[in-house]
Amino acid sequence: MAFLCDNCGKGVQYGEIHTHHRGVAGGQWKKKAQSTRKVFKPNLHKWHGMKLCTKCLRKLKSQMSNVKIVAAVV
Ligand SMILES: [Zn+2]
Repeated sequence: MAFLCDNCGKGVQYGEIHTHHRGVAGGQWKKKAQSTRKVFKPNLHKWHGMKLCTKCLRKLKSQMSNVKIVAAVV
């Protein structure tokens, strides 16, 4: 089971984080924390049998509401 968005294909991304940012340790290298790998997971939701990220979900829901408004007017 892939951890991906069904609409745009957004998935898990990798990056690095520093616990102590520049300036916090007073400019001394030995007081800075090591950089560690971090996993950024997409914010996926199940909606009508699809797995969607939050961006696609908001986009689709706004499109659905526009269709309902047009149908009500016509
Ligand atoms: Zn998406």
